[in-house]
Amino acid sequence: MSPVTRRASRKVRLAGRWVGGDAPILVQSMTNTDTEDAKSTADQVAALARAGSEAVRITVNTLEAARQVPAIRERLLAMGVDVPLIGDFHFNGHKLLAQVPECAVALDKYRINPGNVGHGSKRDDQFATMIEKAIEHAKPVRIGVNWGSLDPELLARLMDANARLKAPKEADEVMREALVVSALESAAKAEEIGLPGDRIILSAKVSAVQDLILVYRELARRCDHALHLGLTEAGMGSKGIVASTAAMGVLLQEGIGDTIRVSLTPEPGGDRTREVIVAQEILQAMGLRSFTPQVSACPGCGRTTSTFFQELAARIQDYLRTQMPVWKSRYPGVEDMHVAVMGCVVNGPGESKLADIGISLPGSGEKPVAPVFVDGEKTVTLKGERIAEEFQAIVEDYVKARYAPGAPKRSTQRKKTIAITQAE
Ligand code: SF4
Repeated sequence: MSPVTRRASRKVRLAGRWVGGDAPILVQSMTNTDTEDAKSTADQVAALARAGSEAVRITVNTLEAARQVPAIRERLLAMGVDVPLIGDFHFNGHKLLAQVPECAVALDKYRINPGNVGHGSKRDDQFATMIEKAIEHAKPVRIGVNWGSLDPELLARLMDANARLKAPKEADEVMREALVVSALESAAKAEEIGLPGDRIILSAKVSAVQDLILVYRELARRCDHALHLGLTEAGMGSKGIVASTAAMGVLLQEGIGDTIRVSLTPEPGGDRTREVIVAQEILQAMGLRSFTPQVSACPGCGRTTSTFFQELAARIQDYLRTQMPVWKSRYPGVEDMHVAVMGCVVNGPGESKLADIGISLPGSGEKPVAPVFVDGEKTVTLKGERIAEEFQAIVEDYVKARYAPGAPKRSTQRKKTIAITQAE
């Protein structure tokens, strides 16, 4: 049983699946292609979906981009990719949804940023037009507030009210409150217009970890809408991954978050699907969902004389991930498998016994042999030049024997028994 109690939220139907409530936390991503280029966009959506993204957002910023949305959908269907498509609208969404109804139909959800729907008297009308289009086409919306495009009129209103207080709050506290109020007031307005509350998802993204935690705690406390979680502008490489994980890890542990996106800036020429893998790894590391078998590998130390065990760990991880598109339907439950690749005798046998299948490679000064453990028992000792190939074959045989439909059920007591034995 998961140690996390999910916050109670309203379930939202998104193209045949559910978001919120007790539905699995959904992994989302976003393209960075020009949506007017239907081929590139469809190809990237397909790559993100194949990597495991369960909804993909695309920019819809021009008339031509809106016109290309149905073509993108058709290309995806021709590729056998059926993933919910979310349209990201700013400034002119009201016009695009009204002028290109086939775009409004082809999308599965509209993202509306209340800070970017217009100003003054136009603001309410333009927001209303977008909500009316969502009602007309029976689509859910995400009201997605962002720190970088916060509604200036709302912020000015809250700043003025704060200034009149006997003990005014700090400016950043007022900013956070403005994010929450913007999301909540916009959701209330959408419901007044007629959009049912169970078709509204909220988000309020900021780029600083502590602010994100504070904003979402408040949002979660003040509404029961499903929440999309993400640290905006998380950054590149390890910085973006660490910041996103730190922020979302705290919130997810508190049961907050029904969908997530990791907003990584790709390295030049980098792979956009990285954000999907990271989002999956966050959820799987926290025990909230399982996507792919996990490989435990030690960090290596002075006892490891070569990079062989690192290469083997990477090879096995890649192998497992590339098999998953086929395995997940052929071998149900394989995503929970745990493989260990360890560098020496110090922790190698122990960690390998705790895994479903593990290998303890020889460290410096050890005999050049590698015992393999299956379900806690040593089954074979590998040696020679073909350890990697032979271990991969053992993993494959194990998957077929254990996860094929009709395979004998395995006792869940084994790991506990080993853990207790070791503690003794
Ligand atoms: S298992 Fe062995 S090689 Fe790996 S970190 Fe521990 S001591 Fe070092």
